[in-house]
Amino acid sequence: MAEMIVTIDGPAGVGKSTVSRMLAKILDAAFLDTGAMYRALTLAALRKNVDLTDTQKVLEVLEGCEFEFTVADDEMRVAVDGRDVTAAIRVPEVTAAVRHVAAAGLLRDRLVEMQRRFAAGHDRIVTEGRDQGTVAFPDAAFKFFLAADVDERAQRRQIQLEQDGMQADIRQLKADIIKRDASDENRLAGPLAPAEDAVIIDTTHLDVAGVVQEMVDIIKRKTNGADSG
Ligand code: C5P
Repeated sequence: MAEMIVTIDGPAGVGKSTVSRMLAKILDAAFLDTGAMYRALTLAALRKNVDLTDTQKVLEVLEGCEFEFTVADDEMRVAVDGRDVTAAIRVPEVTAAVRHVAAAGLLRDRLVEMQRRFAAGHDRIVTEGRDQGTVAFPDAAFKFFLAADVDERAQRRQIQLEQDGMQADIRQLKADIIKRDASDENRLAGPLAPAEDAVIIDTTHLDVAGVVQEMVDIIKRKTNGADSG
């Protein structure tokens, strides 16, 4: 297992990916976007016309395809069976369908295994998702949970989509986020929740650099405290 694990959990559109990437760079750590794993499996199943509510069939897709998650130029590249799907996993159809995969305990167990394998292959990782501090890495030394108002999150998502060349209606984005929050929070397996020992940061009025600085300060304080104690 990695010698340093930092988990960052939080709801959709809170800025986890950007913050995690920046923090990973500062800490010289690998960065894992676990949402990309759920998205990649959803996309692979959709492309094979598999009924996403049929967990067994989706499991066959997971076992039958080769999924690759690599970090290049600060970005996580995702490939399925050798084909780059980094952009394709972000389209609205995948975003809308991913909840079926996310709700299936059996599939979550497999993806958590993949996440732990990824951690085992790196000295330091920053991993972001919904259950990283609670389920995937309960013993992580540094756990954060990001929160932000839903209007702010919808706006951030709109800007992100525009940067990726996609247009989106802000009201629709807000409605989608509210729906996704509800399904992430209410599922039985790996629900969205802060770990008991996570530091909760409300990012509504903070910019990315401010959030990252707060995390770096907390990590430094904790590390120095551990060294001197
Ligand atoms: O973070 P992102 O929006 O890319 O995640 C896509 C979906 O994957 C989320 O809506 C959530 O339902 C699911 N997910 C999850 N557990 C994680 C990461 C993502 O259930 N650790």
